[in-house]
Amino acid sequence: MRLQDKVTLITGSGSGIGRSSALLFAKEGATVIVNDLNIENGQETVELIKAAGGKAAFFQADVTNAESVKTMIDQVIDEYGQIHVLFNNAGISGVGALHEVEPDQWDRVMNINVKGVFIPSKYVLPHMMEKGYGSIINMSSCVAEIGLARRASYGASKGAVLALTKSMQVDYASYGIRVNALLPGTIFTPFVENYLKNSYDDPEAAIASIKLRQLSGELGMPEDVANAALFLASDESKFMMGSPLYIDGGAVFG
Ligand code: NAD
Repeated sequence: MRLQDKVTLITGSGSGIGRSSALLFAKEGATVIVNDLNIENGQETVELIKAAGGKAAFFQADVTNAESVKTMIDQVIDEYGQIHVLFNNAGISGVGALHEVEPDQWDRVMNINVKGVFIPSKYVLPHMMEKGYGSIINMSSCVAEIGLARRASYGASKGAVLALTKSMQVDYASYGIRVNALLPGTIFTPFVENYLKNSYDDPEAAIASIKLRQLSGELGMPEDVANAALFLASDESKFMMGSPLYIDGGAVFG
């Protein structure tokens, strides 16, 4: 088992990619700390893991709120002693060309997608530094590298996450901590379903055009990203440091 005896914290794991990663990490022997804002969904992820014989606990916290995240991490350390893997996955969509984006929408997207990586990392890192071990996975997006229509705030936020990943890697490599980024293409999750519903008169036509953009001709599934997250979480990726890992069906080439 690739994560035997590892304590793994996954933010936003009440849904989509986070939930799928939580289930897979647990199957690989990890104790999974499920974090989400949404209590019902977070608890459901824990129940699914336990029903499959895995180990998990739910902690509600808003990843943008320093106090709530610090409390969660203090409790996890008290109970489990260490956090080996932090998967900064929580995030939201942001739609609109720059002139269409209201300043408060911009702030919300940057807050959750970028500050939401900074805050959990800030409070987990000292524990990883003390133990001399850790893998941090930051959720970026292929939008960090390719221009997509009407994704100004979202693209900016995911570009910032990629740059932050590289800065973090340089600062913490000497502590035995690896920091890598995931760059998914379009993955079929509630996040994408809502985005399509709210942004297009004809969501089916939008899906067809997204499929054309990805060389695979298909949307990705949460499990595709979870498999990549498992690789980055485990020691199998020990020679990957500060790297962007694409799981995009070839979107960056499409
Ligand atoms: P999702 O909406 O299914 O899940 C996101 C989860 O994050 C939700 O459960 C939500 O409650 C939680 N969350 C939101 N704000 C939070 C906060 N402040 N504190 C704690 N939890 C919070 O979305 P998903 O598609 O699984 O996306 C997960 C991540 O992957 C996001 O960062 C997203 O930007 C990124 N991503 C998704 C795609 C895609 O196509 N689905 C592509 C590239 C990157």
